[in-house]
Amino acid sequence: MTSSDPVTLVAALLAVMSVATVIWLLIAAGMRECSSACLCLAGANALQALALVLRWMPESQLHTPALVSHGLLLGAFALLHLSVPLMDEQPTRWPLLLAALAIVVALLTQLPTGPSHVTHHLVVNGTGGLLCFLAARNTARLLRARELRPAICLIFGLPFIVIGGLLLARPLATLWMPDVPASLDTRGAFNGVWLWTALVMTLTVNGTLAFLLMLKLVLQIRRLTLRDPLTDALNRRAMAEAMAAEHQRVRRGHTYALVLLDMDRFKQLNDTLGHAAGDAALKTLVDLLKPCLREVDLLGRLGGEEFCALLPYTGVAGAALVAERMRHLLERSEFQWNGQSWPLSASFGITESVPGDSDPTEVLRRADEALYRAKAQGRNLVQAVEAADQRPRPVASGQGDPIAS
Ligand code: GH3
Ligand code: MG
Ligand code: MG
Repeated sequence: MTSSDPVTLVAALLAVMSVATVIWLLIAAGMRECSSACLCLAGANALQALALVLRWMPESQLHTPALVSHGLLLGAFALLHLSVPLMDEQPTRWPLLLAALAIVVALLTQLPTGPSHVTHHLVVNGTGGLLCFLAARNTARLLRARELRPAICLIFGLPFIVIGGLLLARPLATLWMPDVPASLDTRGAFNGVWLWTALVMTLTVNGTLAFLLMLKLVLQIRRLTLRDPLTDALNRRAMAEAMAAEHQRVRRGHTYALVLLDMDRFKQLNDTLGHAAGDAALKTLVDLLKPCLREVDLLGRLGGEEFCALLPYTGVAGAALVAERMRHLLERSEFQWNGQSWPLSASFGITESVPGDSDPTEVLRRADEALYRAKAQGRNLVQAVEAADQRPRPVASGQGDPIAS
């Protein structure tokens, strides 16, 4: 037995596929996250292993037609193809895929020659290869959406491309090179290289998909640590990180502005309509205010009913426009709870960074001071405090406190 002995290599391939089947099944059972993607991958490995066993068995012992093994192989690559979008919880086009596979199987039954003929292999392996190429494209797209570098995305798509190439190489080689054996169990250089590559790539493809799953979980954990679970706005920690990063640019001459806002008489809303209504009002506020911001702006919940918008490359005049738009939107919104409507409003404090600010807490302190003034002057107002004069000045005024009036 040598390292290129087909029996050893096929046995190793079967072992890898069986272990991968069990591992994906265990992951699917243990984690609700991506369980459908993991089940697809378990199915893909199991069907490939079954197809390999059927293909390996001598024709005399084969009681099932070769069409079954071809069908299993097509099913395996279809599942592999589906697993990539499922890993990202994206919709799959499985009805289209099922219809395409039904057409391919119908075509196979109609081919005049026997199932071991090269045209059968061309159709089966060609379809499998195409599905692998599509899986490579989907993997690269998924990673690109995660903002990985294009070269890295390509590297992770490569194992699928190699498997697709392997599938196509077999029937094409038997067509053009008469000395290439049609069967897998014949010793020879072609079978040795083919089986070794298939073994390494099966491991790599399973590893790539495990990496996609891990990446998704890491991003989810990161999201949980940086987002407020109630409103999905950034949390205090994320805002502190973003402000610190933005503050670095102040030294290079850029200005950023902060819009600090606090809902008016929120306790009264909670006491009258209940805590659940308060929670719903917080979500409504975030949904209302997000469209007022540009893509580069950030909105975070600093705690309770206090929020902060970070506006890069913006001065106090720009921030005043944004804050006034927000104030106006809130004032005009109609918050409904169990058939009862409640007026929403907030007070706003704005400021801009200056080169003299040693850290973002100084900027936040000025915004807080402006917010305090807005509250003191009757609520539902926008007030600004600038670093140079330290004097608050009104930027825009609303109709006053809608609840008190
Ligand atoms: P002001 O106009 O001066 O800002 O008055 P206010 O009532 O908005 O402020 P106060 O600080 O007196 O009350 C804030 C309330 O917000 C008290 C607290 O129970 C409530 N609150 C804080 N976090 C949450 C939350 O996550 N959900 C709900 N429903 N209420 C919250
Ligand atoms: Mg408040
Ligand atoms: Mg408050």
